Amino acid sequence: MDFNQELQELRAQGLHRRLRRMDSASSRMVTVEGRPLLMCASNNYLGLADDPRLTRAAQEAVAEFGTGSSGSRLTTGNTQLHEKLERELAAFKDTEAALLFNTGYMANLAALSALTGTGDLILSDRLNHASLIDGARLSRAEVQVYAHCDLADLAQKLAGAQGKYRRILIATDGVFSMDGDIVPLPGICGLADAYGADVLVDDAHATGVLGANGAGTVDHFGLQGRVAVQMGTLSKALGAEGGYIAGSRSLIDFLINRARPFIFSTAQSPAVVGAARKALELVHAEPQRRQHVRQLADHLREKLAEAGFCVLPSETPILGVVIGAAEEAVQFAELLEAAGIFAPAIRPPTVPPGTSRIRLTLTALHTEADCAAILTAFQAARASLEQ
Ligand code: PMP
Repeated sequence: MDFNQELQELRAQGLHRRLRRMDSASSRMVTVEGRPLLMCASNNYLGLADDPRLTRAAQEAVAEFGTGSSGSRLTTGNTQLHEKLERELAAFKDTEAALLFNTGYMANLAALSALTGTGDLILSDRLNHASLIDGARLSRAEVQVYAHCDLADLAQKLAGAQGKYRRILIATDGVFSMDGDIVPLPGICGLADAYGADVLVDDAHATGVLGANGAGTVDHFGLQGRVAVQMGTLSKALGAEGGYIAGSRSLIDFLINRARPFIFSTAQSPAVVGAARKALELVHAEPQRRQHVRQLADHLREKLAEAGFCVLPSETPILGVVIGAAEEAVQFAELLEAAGIFAPAIRPPTVPPGTSRIRLTLTALHTEADCAAILTAFQAARASLEQ
Protein backbone atom coordinates (compact mmCIF):
# COMPACT_ATOMS: atom_id res chain seq x y z
CA MET A 1 0.00 0.00 0.00
CA ASP A 2 1.26 3.45 -0.87
CA PHE A 3 -0.15 6.53 0.83
CA ASN A 4 2.38 9.08 -0.38
CA GLN A 5 0.09 10.75 -2.88
CA GLU A 6 -2.68 11.24 -0.32
CA LEU A 7 -0.17 12.53 2.22
CA GLN A 8 1.19 14.94 -0.37
CA GLU A 9 -2.32 16.24 -1.03
CA LEU A 10 -2.87 16.81 2.68
CA ARG A 11 0.41 18.75 2.86
CA ALA A 12 -0.54 20.85 -0.17
CA GLN A 13 -3.87 21.80 1.50
CA GLY A 14 -2.23 22.68 4.83
CA LEU A 15 -4.12 19.77 6.41
CA HIS A 16 -1.27 17.43 7.25
CA ARG A 17 -0.91 16.76 10.97
CA ARG A 18 2.03 15.57 12.97
CA LEU A 19 2.27 14.43 16.53
CA ARG A 20 3.78 16.79 19.09
CA ARG A 21 5.69 15.23 21.99
CA MET A 22 4.98 16.35 25.54
CA ASP A 23 8.01 15.97 27.79
CA SER A 24 6.19 16.78 31.02
CA ALA A 25 2.83 16.30 32.75
CA SER A 26 -0.10 18.39 31.53
CA SER A 27 -0.02 21.47 33.74
CA ARG A 28 0.06 25.27 33.43
CA MET A 29 3.53 25.06 31.91
CA VAL A 30 4.49 22.08 29.76
CA THR A 31 7.69 21.03 28.06
CA VAL A 32 6.95 20.43 24.40
CA GLU A 33 9.75 18.70 22.52
CA GLY A 34 12.24 20.08 25.03
CA ARG A 35 10.85 23.63 25.17
CA PRO A 36 8.87 25.13 28.07
CA LEU A 37 5.56 26.64 26.92
CA LEU A 38 2.42 28.03 28.53
CA MET A 39 -0.22 25.33 27.92
CA CYS A 40 -3.32 26.91 26.38
CA ALA A 41 -4.82 23.93 24.58
CA SER A 42 -5.52 21.17 27.07
CA ASN A 43 -8.89 20.01 28.36
CA ASN A 44 -7.50 19.98 31.88
CA TYR A 45 -10.07 22.63 32.83
CA LEU A 46 -9.78 22.30 36.60
CA GLY A 47 -6.02 21.77 36.58
CA LEU A 48 -6.35 18.33 38.18
CA ALA A 49 -4.40 16.22 35.66
CA ASP A 50 -1.15 16.43 37.66
CA ASP A 51 -2.63 17.19 41.08
CA PRO A 52 -0.64 15.22 43.70
CA ARG A 53 -3.88 14.14 45.39
CA LEU A 54 -5.01 12.37 42.21
CA THR A 55 -1.57 10.84 41.75
CA ARG A 56 -1.73 9.46 45.30
CA ALA A 57 -5.25 8.12 44.78
CA ALA A 58 -4.09 6.37 41.60
CA GLN A 59 -1.09 4.88 43.43
CA GLU A 60 -3.31 3.60 46.25
CA ALA A 61 -5.69 2.01 43.73
CA VAL A 62 -2.75 0.31 41.97
CA ALA A 63 -1.32 -0.90 45.29
CA GLU A 64 -4.64 -2.55 46.14
CA PHE A 65 -5.90 -3.75 42.73
CA GLY A 66 -2.81 -3.89 40.47
CA THR A 67 -2.14 -2.23 37.14
CA GLY A 68 -4.55 -4.15 34.92
CA SER A 69 -8.14 -5.17 35.56
CA SER A 70 -7.56 -8.34 33.50
CA GLY A 71 -11.04 -8.86 32.14
CA SER A 72 -14.23 -7.17 30.99
CA ARG A 73 -16.62 -5.94 33.64
CA LEU A 74 -18.99 -8.85 32.94
CA THR A 75 -16.24 -11.44 33.42
CA THR A 76 -13.46 -10.75 35.92
CA GLY A 77 -12.74 -7.01 35.70
CA ASN A 78 -15.44 -5.60 37.99
CA THR A 79 -14.03 -4.24 41.27
CA GLN A 80 -15.56 -2.35 44.16
CA LEU A 81 -13.59 0.68 42.90
CA HIS A 82 -15.56 0.70 39.63
CA GLU A 83 -18.85 0.27 41.47
CA LYS A 84 -18.06 3.02 43.96
CA LEU A 85 -17.18 5.45 41.17
CA GLU A 86 -20.42 4.59 39.37
CA ARG A 87 -22.45 5.31 42.51
CA GLU A 88 -20.58 8.58 42.99
CA LEU A 89 -21.14 9.59 39.35
CA ALA A 90 -24.86 8.82 39.63
CA ALA A 91 -25.11 10.99 42.75
CA PHE A 92 -23.12 13.77 41.01
CA LYS A 93 -25.40 13.64 37.97
CA ASP A 94 -28.55 13.21 40.08
CA THR A 95 -29.53 10.01 38.26
CA GLU A 96 -30.43 6.52 39.47
CA ALA A 97 -27.32 4.89 38.05
CA ALA A 98 -24.20 5.31 35.93
CA LEU A 99 -21.95 3.03 33.88
CA LEU A 100 -18.23 3.41 33.13
CA PHE A 101 -16.58 2.97 29.73
CA ASN A 102 -12.91 3.01 28.80
CA THR A 103 -13.16 6.38 27.06
CA GLY A 104 -15.78 9.00 26.36
CA TYR A 105 -15.55 8.02 22.71
CA MET A 106 -16.55 4.47 23.58
CA ALA A 107 -19.38 5.69 25.82
CA ASN A 108 -20.95 7.49 22.85
CA LEU A 109 -20.42 4.55 20.49
CA ALA A 110 -21.96 2.29 23.11
CA ALA A 111 -24.98 4.44 23.88
CA LEU A 112 -26.01 5.20 20.32
CA SER A 113 -25.38 1.73 18.95
CA ALA A 114 -27.18 0.00 21.81
CA LEU A 115 -30.13 2.35 22.23
CA THR A 116 -31.06 2.83 18.58
CA GLY A 117 -31.13 0.61 15.50
CA THR A 118 -32.99 -0.04 12.29
CA GLY A 119 -36.39 1.64 12.40
CA ASP A 120 -35.21 4.41 14.75
CA LEU A 121 -34.26 8.02 14.06
CA ILE A 122 -31.30 9.93 15.48
CA LEU A 123 -31.50 13.71 15.20
CA SER A 124 -27.96 15.03 15.45
CA ASP A 125 -26.64 18.61 15.74
CA ARG A 126 -24.43 19.55 12.79
CA LEU A 127 -21.49 20.33 15.08
CA ASN A 128 -21.70 17.19 17.20
CA HIS A 129 -18.48 15.47 18.21
CA ALA A 130 -17.09 12.73 15.96
CA SER A 131 -17.87 10.04 18.56
CA LEU A 132 -21.61 10.85 18.34
CA ILE A 133 -21.41 10.80 14.55
CA ASP A 134 -19.58 7.47 14.56
CA GLY A 135 -21.98 6.00 17.15
CA ALA A 136 -24.94 7.06 15.00
CA ARG A 137 -23.40 5.35 11.96
CA LEU A 138 -22.73 2.20 13.94
CA SER A 139 -26.33 2.07 15.19
CA ARG A 140 -27.88 1.55 11.70
CA ALA A 141 -30.61 4.00 12.69
CA GLU A 142 -31.59 6.69 10.23
CA VAL A 143 -29.70 9.91 10.95
CA GLN A 144 -30.93 13.43 10.23
CA VAL A 145 -28.60 16.33 10.92
CA TYR A 146 -30.19 19.59 12.10
CA ALA A 147 -28.60 23.02 11.82
CA HIS A 148 -26.37 23.91 14.76
CA CYS A 149 -28.48 24.63 17.89
CA ASP A 150 -31.39 25.52 15.60
CA LEU A 151 -34.61 24.72 17.47
CA ALA A 152 -36.82 25.62 14.51
CA ASP A 153 -35.01 23.15 12.24
CA LEU A 154 -35.14 20.49 14.96
CA ALA A 155 -38.88 21.08 15.47
CA GLN A 156 -39.50 20.75 11.75
CA LYS A 157 -37.60 17.46 11.59
CA LEU A 158 -39.42 16.13 14.66
CA ALA A 159 -42.78 17.06 13.17
CA GLY A 160 -41.88 15.31 9.91
CA ALA A 161 -40.83 12.18 11.79
CA GLN A 162 -44.07 11.66 13.72
CA GLY A 163 -45.43 8.12 13.46
CA LYS A 164 -42.60 6.90 11.23
CA TYR A 165 -40.08 5.52 13.74
CA ARG A 166 -39.94 3.23 16.76
CA ARG A 167 -37.72 5.59 18.77
CA ILE A 168 -36.49 9.13 18.16
CA LEU A 169 -33.29 10.20 19.93
CA ILE A 170 -31.98 13.76 19.85
CA ALA A 171 -28.20 13.63 20.31
CA THR A 172 -26.25 16.78 21.10
CA ASP A 173 -23.04 18.01 22.64
CA GLY A 174 -23.66 19.92 25.88
CA VAL A 175 -20.74 22.24 25.19
CA PHE A 176 -19.54 22.16 21.58
CA SER A 177 -15.90 21.26 21.66
CA MET A 178 -14.56 23.52 18.92
CA ASP A 179 -16.79 26.59 19.40
CA GLY A 180 -17.28 26.40 23.17
CA ASP A 181 -20.97 27.35 23.02
CA ILE A 182 -23.64 25.76 25.24
CA VAL A 183 -26.58 23.78 23.83
CA PRO A 184 -30.04 25.41 24.28
CA LEU A 185 -31.09 22.44 26.39
CA PRO A 186 -34.39 23.80 27.80
CA GLY A 187 -35.69 24.24 24.23
CA ILE A 188 -34.44 20.82 23.18
CA CYS A 189 -36.10 19.13 26.18
CA GLY A 190 -39.34 21.00 25.46
CA LEU A 191 -39.34 19.75 21.87
CA ALA A 192 -38.47 16.22 22.96
CA ASP A 193 -41.45 16.20 25.33
CA ALA A 194 -43.78 17.67 22.71
CA TYR A 195 -42.82 15.10 20.06
CA GLY A 196 -42.19 12.01 22.19
CA ALA A 197 -38.42 11.91 21.66
CA ASP A 198 -35.56 11.24 24.08
CA VAL A 199 -32.44 13.34 24.59
CA LEU A 200 -28.78 12.30 24.83
CA VAL A 201 -26.37 15.02 25.98
CA ASP A 202 -22.61 14.65 25.59
CA ASP A 203 -21.22 16.58 28.55
CA ALA A 204 -17.55 15.90 27.87
CA HIS A 205 -16.68 19.61 28.12
CA ALA A 206 -19.33 20.59 30.67
CA THR A 207 -18.64 18.04 33.40
CA GLY A 208 -16.79 19.69 36.27
CA VAL A 209 -17.14 23.08 34.60
CA LEU A 210 -20.81 24.08 34.24
CA GLY A 211 -23.61 24.22 36.79
CA ALA A 212 -23.84 25.17 40.46
CA ASN A 213 -22.43 21.74 41.39
CA GLY A 214 -20.15 21.46 38.37
CA ALA A 215 -22.31 18.57 37.16
CA GLY A 216 -22.72 19.80 33.57
CA THR A 217 -25.38 21.25 31.31
CA VAL A 218 -28.35 19.59 33.05
CA ASP A 219 -27.16 21.17 36.32
CA HIS A 220 -26.48 24.49 34.54
CA PHE A 221 -30.09 24.71 33.30
CA GLY A 222 -31.75 22.96 36.28
CA LEU A 223 -33.17 20.23 34.02
CA GLN A 224 -32.70 17.26 36.34
CA GLY A 225 -34.90 14.33 35.29
CA ARG A 226 -35.49 15.68 31.76
CA VAL A 227 -32.52 14.15 29.90
CA ALA A 228 -32.69 10.36 29.47
CA VAL A 229 -29.02 9.80 28.62
CA GLN A 230 -26.21 11.90 30.09
CA MET A 231 -22.78 11.07 28.73
CA GLY A 232 -19.56 12.43 30.17
CA THR A 233 -15.84 11.86 30.24
CA LEU A 234 -13.33 11.54 33.05
CA SER A 235 -10.51 12.68 30.77
CA LYS A 236 -11.01 16.43 30.70
CA ALA A 237 -11.92 18.44 33.84
CA LEU A 238 -11.59 15.30 35.96
CA GLY A 239 -7.96 14.82 34.97
CA ALA A 240 -8.15 11.03 34.50
CA GLU A 241 -9.44 8.82 31.69
CA GLY A 242 -12.65 7.01 30.84
CA GLY A 243 -16.25 7.86 29.99
CA TYR A 244 -19.64 7.23 31.52
CA ILE A 245 -23.35 7.19 30.83
CA ALA A 246 -25.71 8.30 33.61
CA GLY A 247 -29.46 7.73 33.60
CA SER A 248 -32.19 5.45 34.90
CA ARG A 249 -31.46 2.05 36.45
CA SER A 250 -33.15 0.33 33.49
CA LEU A 251 -31.07 2.31 30.95
CA ILE A 252 -27.86 1.24 32.68
CA ASP A 253 -29.01 -2.38 32.99
CA PHE A 254 -29.85 -2.37 29.28
CA LEU A 255 -26.41 -0.98 28.37
CA ILE A 256 -24.70 -3.63 30.53
CA ASN A 257 -26.52 -6.24 28.45
CA ARG A 258 -26.41 -4.65 25.02
CA ALA A 259 -23.55 -2.15 24.66
CA ARG A 260 -20.77 -3.90 22.75
CA PRO A 261 -17.98 -1.46 23.72
CA PHE A 262 -18.87 -2.27 27.35
CA ILE A 263 -19.24 -6.03 26.93
CA PHE A 264 -16.21 -6.73 24.76
CA SER A 265 -13.47 -4.55 26.24
CA THR A 266 -11.33 -4.91 29.35
CA ALA A 267 -12.48 -2.85 32.33
CA GLN A 268 -10.74 0.45 33.04
CA SER A 269 -7.49 0.13 34.95
CA PRO A 270 -7.69 0.69 38.72
CA ALA A 271 -5.32 3.69 38.49
CA VAL A 272 -7.67 5.84 36.43
CA VAL A 273 -10.71 4.83 38.48
CA GLY A 274 -8.90 5.78 41.71
CA ALA A 275 -7.83 9.13 40.23
CA ALA A 276 -11.31 9.92 38.93
CA ARG A 277 -12.89 9.24 42.33
CA LYS A 278 -10.54 11.75 43.94
CA ALA A 279 -11.25 14.27 41.16
CA LEU A 280 -15.01 14.03 41.79
CA GLU A 281 -14.39 14.69 45.47
CA LEU A 282 -12.41 17.82 44.54
CA VAL A 283 -15.15 19.07 42.16
CA HIS A 284 -17.42 19.14 45.24
CA ALA A 285 -14.82 20.47 47.68
CA GLU A 286 -13.19 23.15 45.51
CA PRO A 287 -15.86 25.03 43.53
CA GLN A 288 -13.45 27.98 43.32
CA ARG A 289 -11.59 26.10 40.55
CA ARG A 290 -14.51 26.28 38.13
CA GLN A 291 -15.37 29.83 39.20
CA HIS A 292 -11.79 30.99 38.57
CA VAL A 293 -11.46 29.44 35.11
CA ARG A 294 -14.85 30.83 34.10
CA GLN A 295 -13.89 34.38 35.18
CA LEU A 296 -10.53 34.20 33.42
CA ALA A 297 -12.11 32.93 30.20
CA ASP A 298 -14.75 35.69 30.20
CA HIS A 299 -12.02 38.27 30.78
CA LEU A 300 -9.77 36.98 27.98
CA ARG A 301 -12.70 36.68 25.57
CA GLU A 302 -13.56 40.31 26.20
CA LYS A 303 -9.95 41.46 25.74
CA LEU A 304 -9.48 39.50 22.49
CA ALA A 305 -12.75 40.87 21.09
CA GLU A 306 -11.75 44.43 22.06
CA ALA A 307 -8.47 43.88 20.22
CA GLY A 308 -10.46 43.03 17.07
CA PHE A 309 -10.12 39.23 17.02
CA CYS A 310 -13.00 37.09 15.80
CA VAL A 311 -13.61 35.25 19.06
CA LEU A 312 -16.64 32.97 19.10
CA PRO A 313 -19.30 33.78 21.72
CA SER A 314 -19.20 31.35 24.63
CA GLU A 315 -19.46 31.09 28.42
CA THR A 316 -17.01 28.25 28.83
CA PRO A 317 -13.20 27.89 29.14
CA ILE A 318 -13.06 27.18 25.37
CA LEU A 319 -12.19 30.23 23.26
CA GLY A 320 -12.36 29.73 19.50
CA VAL A 321 -10.44 32.48 17.71
CA VAL A 322 -11.24 32.15 14.00
CA ILE A 323 -8.35 32.87 11.66
CA GLY A 324 -9.79 31.55 8.35
CA ALA A 325 -7.64 29.52 5.96
CA ALA A 326 -5.90 26.41 7.28
CA GLU A 327 -2.38 27.55 6.28
CA GLU A 328 -2.86 30.92 7.98
CA ALA A 329 -4.08 29.31 11.19
CA VAL A 330 -1.03 27.05 11.18
CA GLN A 331 1.31 30.03 10.73
CA PHE A 332 -0.52 31.87 13.51
CA ALA A 333 -0.04 28.91 15.85
CA GLU A 334 3.67 28.76 14.97
CA LEU A 335 4.06 32.44 15.84
CA LEU A 336 2.25 31.90 19.15
CA GLU A 337 4.55 29.00 19.91
CA ALA A 338 7.62 31.10 19.13
CA ALA A 339 6.24 33.55 21.74
CA GLY A 340 5.95 30.76 24.33
CA ILE A 341 2.23 29.94 23.95
CA PHE A 342 1.12 26.40 23.06
CA ALA A 343 -2.23 26.61 21.23
CA PRO A 344 -2.21 24.59 18.00
CA ALA A 345 -4.41 25.39 14.99
CA ILE A 346 -7.65 23.44 14.51
CA ARG A 347 -8.38 22.74 10.85
CA PRO A 348 -10.80 20.78 8.65
CA PRO A 349 -12.13 18.15 8.98
CA THR A 350 -12.40 19.00 12.69
CA VAL A 351 -13.96 22.39 11.79
CA PRO A 352 -15.66 23.56 8.56
CA PRO A 353 -13.38 24.88 5.77
CA GLY A 354 -12.64 28.62 6.07
CA THR A 355 -13.08 28.56 9.87
CA SER A 356 -9.67 27.24 10.86
CA ARG A 357 -8.90 28.63 14.24
CA ILE A 358 -6.81 28.77 17.32
CA ARG A 359 -8.71 26.91 20.00
CA LEU A 360 -7.56 28.39 23.28
CA THR A 361 -8.55 26.64 26.46
CA LEU A 362 -7.92 27.97 29.92
CA THR A 363 -7.60 26.01 33.13
CA ALA A 364 -7.91 26.79 36.82
CA LEU A 365 -4.10 26.96 36.92
CA HIS A 366 -3.89 30.02 34.65
CA THR A 367 -3.52 33.55 36.02
CA GLU A 368 -4.49 37.03 34.89
CA ALA A 369 -0.83 37.59 33.95
CA ASP A 370 -1.07 34.52 31.67
CA CYS A 371 -4.11 36.04 29.94
CA ALA A 372 -2.18 39.27 29.40
CA ALA A 373 0.71 37.28 27.89
CA ILE A 374 -1.71 35.40 25.59
CA LEU A 375 -3.27 38.67 24.39
CA THR A 376 0.16 40.21 23.68
CA ALA A 377 1.23 37.11 21.74
CA PHE A 378 -1.98 37.21 19.67
CA GLN A 379 -1.45 40.86 18.79
CA ALA A 380 2.20 40.26 17.86
CA ALA A 381 1.31 37.24 15.70
CA ARG A 382 -1.34 39.21 13.81
CA ALA A 383 1.07 42.13 13.26
CA SER A 384 3.71 39.77 11.97
CA LEU A 385 1.28 38.06 9.51
CA GLU A 386 0.03 41.42 8.23
CA GLN A 387 3.52 42.58 7.31
N1 PMP B 1 -17.29 14.06 23.23
C1 PMP B 1 -16.72 15.26 23.06
C2 PMP B 1 -17.59 16.46 22.84
C3 PMP B 1 -15.32 15.37 23.08
O1 PMP B 1 -14.73 16.55 22.87
C4 PMP B 1 -14.54 14.21 23.32
C5 PMP B 1 -13.02 14.28 23.39
N2 PMP B 1 -12.39 14.94 22.37
C6 PMP B 1 -15.19 12.99 23.49
C7 PMP B 1 -16.57 12.96 23.45
C8 PMP B 1 -14.43 11.73 23.71
O2 PMP B 1 -14.02 11.64 25.03
P1 PMP B 1 -12.67 10.85 25.39
O3 PMP B 1 -11.54 11.76 25.03
O4 PMP B 1 -12.79 10.57 26.84
O5 PMP B 1 -12.67 9.61 24.55
